Amino acid sequence: MSKSFPSRRSWAEPWKVKVVEPLKMTTHTDRERAISEAGFNTFLLRSEDVYIDLLTDSGTSAMSDWQWAGMMMGDEAYAGSKNFYHLEETIQKYYGYKYIVPTHQGRGAEHILSKILIKSGDIIPGNMYFTTTRLHQELAGGTFADIIIPEAHDPNNEYPFKGNVNLETLEKLIHKAGKEHIPYISLAATVNMAGGQPISMANIRAVRELANKHDIKIILDATRAIENAYFIHEREDGYHDKSIADILKELCSYTDGCTMSGKKDALVNIGGWLALNDFNLYEEARNLVVVYEGLHTYGGMAGRDMEAMARGIIESVQDDHIRARVGQVEYLGQKLITSGIPVVCPIGGHAVYLNAKAFYPHIPQDEFPAQTLACELYMDSGVRAMERGIVSAGRDKKTGKHYYPSLELVRLTIPRRVYTQAHMDVTSESVIAVYNKRDKARGLKMVYEPKYLRFFQARFKQL
Ligand SMILES: *Cc1c(COP(=O)(O)O)cnc(C)c1O
Repeated sequence: MSKSFPSRRSWAEPWKVKVVEPLKMTTHTDRERAISEAGFNTFLLRSEDVYIDLLTDSGTSAMSDWQWAGMMMGDEAYAGSKNFYHLEETIQKYYGYKYIVPTHQGRGAEHILSKILIKSGDIIPGNMYFTTTRLHQELAGGTFADIIIPEAHDPNNEYPFKGNVNLETLEKLIHKAGKEHIPYISLAATVNMAGGQPISMANIRAVRELANKHDIKIILDATRAIENAYFIHEREDGYHDKSIADILKELCSYTDGCTMSGKKDALVNIGGWLALNDFNLYEEARNLVVVYEGLHTYGGMAGRDMEAMARGIIESVQDDHIRARVGQVEYLGQKLITSGIPVVCPIGGHAVYLNAKAFYPHIPQDEFPAQTLACELYMDSGVRAMERGIVSAGRDKKTGKHYYPSLELVRLTIPRRVYTQAHMDVTSESVIAVYNKRDKARGLKMVYEPKYLRFFQARFKQL
């Protein structure tokens, strides 16, 4: 891989633009009005009012001409669509799992998995929570337990695998809770909430050994496993000469199944799946999918969506693709680091995370510094980002109090194959401008709070 990208030379994306989507340009006054109408929540903005949309990399990728051609090959039969079989075969080939249940997106898979594996009172250890994953575990009667290494909670720690599991914590938890109360270990690669940080192959292997010792399953959140494979390729001894596809397959081989949001790595706008190696569990999942998603050969997706995802998977494991994808994130991150902006280090695979606590030390956490920063950035330039701090963390269901996460971040998430280097330059200049007037920022007050996943729909007022 490194042969085609000599380090002293510039490199560019392995694609060219064929279709463009014009963007509306707005003024500062337009944006002040828009964010105020949106209750100071970037999720409630109209996308038309956004210039550079870094809210999420979920479902926002640009598809290739080959994927679009696949959309015309949709077999929209209710049952047994040929696109399902293509998708199934592609997942088996690249991820290596035996049985595939298609779902409308990642949380559909999490819902079914939680229903078949978790019983009331269970504990699910995981390397940091993810919003929808934890909620489905809780709705099924389980409790999530964080087993990530402490480095993950420190935005300045440069450890190369901040997604790793703390094996000692995991082992203690197994002894304390009893293995019969641990239905599976929920392993994410990369870890979104820690800043897109990878887990090392050595760590995954060690988790597998521990899980074997206690006869516990491991379910991978494979949403960004290809980006994780890229970091293993770059940072872990023994993997520099392996292809991304080979690393991905090895990584998955240490787990018993996965939930997947195709909207991320797989380069599509909608789609997901649940994969399992155990036939009996698969049978249960295949039965439940009919209740919640759709027949087991479409699971909420159109035939054309399944074809686009099958083709997207094939493109997503190409070495040149993933290098350029993560490389663009790195480019933005390095620009900000060079300008002294407080960001989570090392730079993650899908996003650059601004450290809002360091931006706004004068704003207490329950006045939502990260939410504030996301709003300031939008007002400055029309760049839309996402809060990943106290608002996203939600409330403890027992005490009703806010969770106070140590990370209070704003995520600048880069869609795949959508923006150019110039968009990254504009973004970094805006972040720097907001940083330079940081003393003037005021916090927010929450005036409306939904019961579930509040960050999506909560409304705020400026203090
Ligand atoms: C997006 C995401 C999910 C949920 O997937 P959806 O397709 O949005 O339902 C689960 N885990 C991680 C790590 C994610 O980023």
